[in-house]
Amino acid sequence: MSLKDPEIRPRLLAWYDAHRRDLPWRSAPGEAADPYRVWLSEVMLQQTRVETVRPYFERWLQRFPTVDALAAAPLDDVLKAWEGLGYYSRARNFHRAVGLVHQQHGGRVPGDPEAFRALPGVGRYTAGAVMSIAFGREEPVVDGNVRRVFARVVDDADPADELLWSMASALVRGPRPGDVNQSVMELGATVCVPRNPRCGDCPVREFCGAFAAGTQNERPARKKAKPLPHEDTAVPVIERDGRVLLVRRPVTARLGGMWAFPAVIRADGESVSAAAERAGREALGIEIRAGAPVCVVEHTFTHVRATYHAVRCSLVEGDPRALLYDEVAWVRWERVPGYALPVAQRRIAALAAESTLFNGAPAP
Ligand code: SF4
Repeated sequence: MSLKDPEIRPRLLAWYDAHRRDLPWRSAPGEAADPYRVWLSEVMLQQTRVETVRPYFERWLQRFPTVDALAAAPLDDVLKAWEGLGYYSRARNFHRAVGLVHQQHGGRVPGDPEAFRALPGVGRYTAGAVMSIAFGREEPVVDGNVRRVFARVVDDADPADELLWSMASALVRGPRPGDVNQSVMELGATVCVPRNPRCGDCPVREFCGAFAAGTQNERPARKKAKPLPHEDTAVPVIERDGRVLLVRRPVTARLGGMWAFPAVIRADGESVSAAAERAGREALGIEIRAGAPVCVVEHTFTHVRATYHAVRCSLVEGDPRALLYDEVAWVRWERVPGYALPVAQRRIAALAAESTLFNGAPAP
């Protein structure tokens, strides 16, 4: 079985025309797609579900409707608009890349694959998607959905990346390259799903090796997930005169550019209080005293599982300095929601603010 049968392309396109989902970033059939919207959607959809992205995408376009509007926005506003979507490097890179499009390309997304690939955060997949969908170029895409459909069609448990890209390159050649790419991704998302694909509704069933062999559920083979390393972190919630100390994480770090509470990974056998006080000295150059625990929050990132032990701390001596961060700020509790905080940090902030109010907030 293969994708070489000349019937496959027209079947995919006919199926796509009849079954494509109406998504806010998709242009109507026959209408030219807006490259900025297509690019934004592709960046937001990486590692993120369509239903999660939909409201973010719509809010984003109200806030930053064009390349030039986004290029002019400060990074803080951009991260705030991204807050909750995760993988924040996507937002930082997109902001930088759009800044370059504004400066070097007059605000028009370049339709030349090489120029587009040169922008920060643009990989092979994003380039293929934007070039084919927004510019009608015969550029291939391979994402998780495409990989699954192709692995099943050729009945291969673990197809090599280069095989997948060469299959995609062959398939995309011809009329409507953007729609062909989207048809395979759509098929993987809605019919050729990971478990129990709906082969009865599939337009390429008669070309599918896994369907013929009855091996759909074993193609592609699932990789065993390795257990993630664990970080046990102390988080001092340092208060003074109704304000709490927030730090801006270095742009190159995980969650770079986002605001957060200071934090330090606990050493073996180190108590939460001792670690929190050490964070004050090492990261901020201040002496703090740990008091009551606030909460314990768990969060799983792509490469690490983190446990945050938040503990209320008071300032004993010194003025905080951004020794390990880009910035520090004393922020009134009621202003904290206006800062771009990652999900786990927002949870800590909400619980800490709640217990501050419950115990009687100090006068501002
Ligand atoms: S026939 Fe089934 S397994 Fe094969 S591509 Fe279609 S949905 Fe996927």
